[in-house]
Amino acid sequence: MDHSSKNVTRGDALKQLIVLPALAGMLAAGAFSTAEAADNKKQFKYQDKPGPAGQKCSGCQFFKKPNGCSIVHGKISPNGWCIAWAKKH
Ligand code: SF4
Repeated sequence: MDHSSKNVTRGDALKQLIVLPALAGMLAAGAFSTAEAADNKKQFKYQDKPGPAGQKCSGCQFFKKPNGCSIVHGKISPNGWCIAWAKKH
């Protein structure tokens, strides 16, 4: 029997045991920053006026009528803009 390959397998399993709690920890940390997630306008540099070249929320694929967005949380203006702007198809 090749003991070295068995050891590698066990080593990988050990690595996974270490990585998984780390990921769970990161997720939990994310859950704790709900205040930040509730208002991510700053993160996306949202503004209440159109962006470069007249880009605005109403022309963005993430815009949800009448004042919503699937990326930026809370109420947004159809005439607003943020750095996640992507042309509506
Ligand atoms: S992603 Fe940005 S630009 Fe697009 S609708 Fe949401 S807030 Fe507006």
